[in-house]
Amino acid sequence: MNCDSGAILVLSGPSGAGKSTLLNEIIPDIGECYFSISTTTRPIREGESHGIHYYFVSEEEFKQDIEEEMFLEYAYVHGNYYGTSMKPVKRALKAGKLVVFDIDVQGNTVVTNRLGDITTSVFISPPTLSELKKRLEHRQTDAQEVIDRRIKMAKKEIQRISEYDYLIINDDLEEAANVLRTIAKAARLKIPGNEINEFTRKWEDID
Ligand code: 5GP
Repeated sequence: MNCDSGAILVLSGPSGAGKSTLLNEIIPDIGECYFSISTTTRPIREGESHGIHYYFVSEEEFKQDIEEEMFLEYAYVHGNYYGTSMKPVKRALKAGKLVVFDIDVQGNTVVTNRLGDITTSVFISPPTLSELKKRLEHRQTDAQEVIDRRIKMAKKEIQRISEYDYLIINDDLEEAANVLRTIAKAARLKIPGNEINEFTRKWEDID
C-alpha cells in the first residue's frame, strides 16, 4: 500500500483498559487525526451509534466485504468479526493525518506487517486483572458470559505485549494520558522507508 505522508497509531488492550477515555483526553492536543471506524458483526450496545462507534453489519455483509478485499485487516474477536476498511485509511494517510486504530493483537500484527514503517503501536492495560474485572463489571453493558470471555481473552492478549512499541498502564488517567500524548506526537514524526531512501540519495548528490 502506498501512503503519502500520514502515520498510524495502533491502540490495543482489553475492553475496559480505558482506550477511548484516554484517546478523548488527548485528541485536542495531537493535531489532525482520523479515528478509524471499524466494521463489526457484534450486536450494538446501549449508547452506541452506527457510523460513530462502529459500522454494525450482518455476518453476510461482512463476509462479502472480505471477499471483495475491502479490509486492511480483519479478525474474529470474542465471537464476532471486526475489520478495518482500507479506503478511508488510505484517504486519511494521503491527507497527512495521524490514523488511529483501536484494534486487537491480531489486527496489530497485520497492520505492522503491512505498514510497519509508518506504524507506532501501543498496548494499554489496566494495572491488574482484578482491576479489569472490576471495571468490566462496573460498566454493566455486557452479560456475565461476555465479561468472562473478555477476561479470558485479556489474559491471552497480555502475553503478547512484547509485540508492541509501548506499554501504558492505565492506573492514573492523567499520567497515562500524558504518556499517550507524547507517543502520539512522536508517531507523526516516524519517517517512512521510501522517504529515508530519497533523503539518503539526495543527500549524497548534494555532497
Ligand atoms: P468491543 O466489542 O469491546 O468494542 O471490541 C472488542 C475488541 O475488538 C477490542 O479489543 C478492539 O480493539 C477490537 N477491535 C475493534 N475493531 C477492530 C478491528 O477493526 N480490527 C481488529 N482486529 N480488532 C478490532
